[in-house]
Amino acid sequence: MLNEAWKRRLIHIAHSGTGSEFNLKTRMEYPKTVLGQKIHQSKTMSHSFPWLHKIKGSILKNEILAPYTSIQIGGPADVLIFPEDIRDIQTILKNKGSQPLFTLGEGTNLLVGDRGIRGVVISLKDCFKDIKRPLFFRKETGNRRAVIKAGAGVKMSYLAKYAARYSLTGIEHLVGIPGSLGGAVIMNAGAEGTEVGQVLRSVTRITPDGEVQTLKREELSFEYRKTIFPDGEGIIIEAELELEEGDRSEIQNAMDRHLSRRSQTQPLTIPNSGSVFKNPDGDKAGRLIESLGLKGLSVGNAGVSIKHANFIVNKGGATANDVTRLIEHIREEVKDKTGINLQTEIVTAGE
Ligand SMILES: Cc1cc2nc3c(=O)[nH]c(=O)nc-3n(C[C@H](O)[C@H](O)[C@H](O)COP(=O)(O)OP(=O)(O)OC[C@H]3O[C@@H](n4cnc5c(N)ncnc54)[C@H](O)[C@@H]3O)c2cc1C
Repeated sequence: MLNEAWKRRLIHIAHSGTGSEFNLKTRMEYPKTVLGQKIHQSKTMSHSFPWLHKIKGSILKNEILAPYTSIQIGGPADVLIFPEDIRDIQTILKNKGSQPLFTLGEGTNLLVGDRGIRGVVISLKDCFKDIKRPLFFRKETGNRRAVIKAGAGVKMSYLAKYAARYSLTGIEHLVGIPGSLGGAVIMNAGAEGTEVGQVLRSVTRITPDGEVQTLKREELSFEYRKTIFPDGEGIIIEAELELEEGDRSEIQNAMDRHLSRRSQTQPLTIPNSGSVFKNPDGDKAGRLIESLGLKGLSVGNAGVSIKHANFIVNKGGATANDVTRLIEHIREEVKDKTGINLQTEIVTAGE
């Protein structure tokens, strides 16, 4: 019996092609089954990427994206690039022409389609990982505060623990968010009354024109699970957070309590992509779904978590199509029975 890691490896090998040239004009069978798992690929990979040799970071062609998402679902990216630095990203933007571009963080709020993502996918998993030592200053009120500058690829959970080491309070409730800082900025991620937007001081991004631009907090606006940028989001590479000095043991205790509450209430050991729906005004999506008896309901291999009704879990081999059908079913039930129109929180990408 092959374990999951081996299965994924074999699926990857089955789809990584043989040629080392970058032209992807390859005709393939469609759909294909590898070890019982259906793999979808474009009938004709018509995109051509003659500029890929200019990239210093690593490049994977036709790479299955499921292992790059926390729900372990998703077909291949035409090209998946792990840029080494800003120059690599600028090269991509300069040369990609009309090919679409998608930025992948830790893939923890994401549902990638079964046929994958056309064009270029950039993963910031291996870059922009620096955290600068906090710079302390004193407010007129006498309070000590500090600014932490961190790369977009740093994990939010790590950053919260890092801040705690310097007795900095403000993001201890974000310690259980498994995504990257870049993803947290885009999603205005939050928990227990804290949102990333409240503690942001600035965000540095690369605009679609390839310009490195730093935006102050005042130039952004924040909504529930959404940050609004002037002229589109671009690619976030760095952010500065402003935090207040607090009591280290209180901060640590708050993080411990928060993490233990999560492990009791969320299905952390089964692949999932976090909260599927945004909470409607004055209520909780999970409470609504549970009250309609939908916990445990499945479509294919995707199911509503028994632990938390606002989580959909991949019970093994679920497809994006299973998840989408389950989401639609929940939405219709909630609308029929309560009149409430649930909005999705998870981001869907690809075909
Ligand atoms: C078990 C679990 C618990 C969770 N709990 C919470 C919670 O309490 N609160 C909460 O808010 N969320 C929660 N989430 C959801 C998720 O972790 C957050 O939304 C997180 O901020 C997403 O970050 P990511 O790096 O995974 O982004 P991804 O899922 O990779 O991407 C999300 C979106 O951000 C964009 N993006 C990512 N990085 C960048 C970048 N550098 N530049 C431009 N665009 C970018 C992507 O294109 C996509 O549109 C949870 C998820 C799981 C699996």
